[in-house]
Amino acid sequence: MSIQSGGLRLATAAPWQEQLRDAIRSPAALAEAVGLAPAALPFDAAASADFPLLVPRSFAARMRRGDADDPLLRQVLASAAETRTVEGYGPDPLQELSLPARDQGVLKKYHGRALLITTGACAVNCRYCFRRHFPYQESTGSHRERLQRVSALAGDPTLKELILSGGDPLLLTDRQLAEIVDIADASEHLGTLRLHSRLPIVIPDRVTQTLLAALRRPALRSVMVLHCNHAREIDSATAAAIARLRDAGVLVLNQSVLLAGVNDSVADLEALSLALFDAGALPYYLHMLDPVAGAAHFAVEVDRARHLLGALAGRLPGYLLPRLAVEVAGADSKRELAPAYTPAPKKAQDDL
Ligand code: SF4
Repeated sequence: MSIQSGGLRLATAAPWQEQLRDAIRSPAALAEAVGLAPAALPFDAAASADFPLLVPRSFAARMRRGDADDPLLRQVLASAAETRTVEGYGPDPLQELSLPARDQGVLKKYHGRALLITTGACAVNCRYCFRRHFPYQESTGSHRERLQRVSALAGDPTLKELILSGGDPLLLTDRQLAEIVDIADASEHLGTLRLHSRLPIVIPDRVTQTLLAALRRPALRSVMVLHCNHAREIDSATAAAIARLRDAGVLVLNQSVLLAGVNDSVADLEALSLALFDAGALPYYLHMLDPVAGAAHFAVEVDRARHLLGALAGRLPGYLLPRLAVEVAGADSKRELAPAYTPAPKKAQDDL
């Protein structure tokens, strides 16, 4: 575990790979980590059968001890609600399984950008994620194949931005990432490299000096889009990781998912934006939940989401207000949802 002392970060943390190996994978270990009796943890074995429990200890350490409703715990705990069948929720809500080139590990949904599926793995299994149903084994391939795909994208003059996603691209080794960045950097067309990652949040020690050296390129801008849903996910180690990224010239943004019981209040969303800003990251998107089978209990109604954003706009400067967005299957961009500034109905006001 890393500790902050007198402004100096003491080098007591295990390497990130070791932290990943040591991640919590059983309900008993999770209950112990959060100070709950095993029987008090609302874990459901059937829910975890196809998408197991996976929680880095550094993330569990930020959960409130003794609180089975903790918003960080809710994001990672397999619960009985996941086993319910709910109309409108399915395994492929964005219909990405049938997109051209998906089986070559590349998604070209948006103009000028291509997304490389680097790996199907993550350092944490978030219960609301579509990843539980996505057949990554058909999409990722070997590292050699990955490099071939990057070379093909680097030679495509219609592309300006290469997006590394997954799973979590920061699960690749620093050397593998450097090889990818080398190819992108040599491209005449690609000017921006974007990485989507939750690793700097859940295991901040993933932001190593060798990773930063790989990203620091004079001719290729790097953007790191973090995934953080609650202010308490940001502790001193996370803030230090974000500071290291910024010092290396990386633009750090954040996207969140609006999740019932996690961050669906004005106070929680305001605290998240302020905590991100304090740490050096700007709020970017607040996503509506994708209708993923097993995640319906996290859903927030569109109307309520728009009122939450309207109320949030009254409390924050515009640069700290995330854009409320929804992904629509087959659309060529995300759809932004306008904040609702009219007063919510009385009952809804009590819920904001
Ligand atoms: S892709 Fe992101 S949201 Fe999904 S499990 Fe991995 S870290 Fe969590």
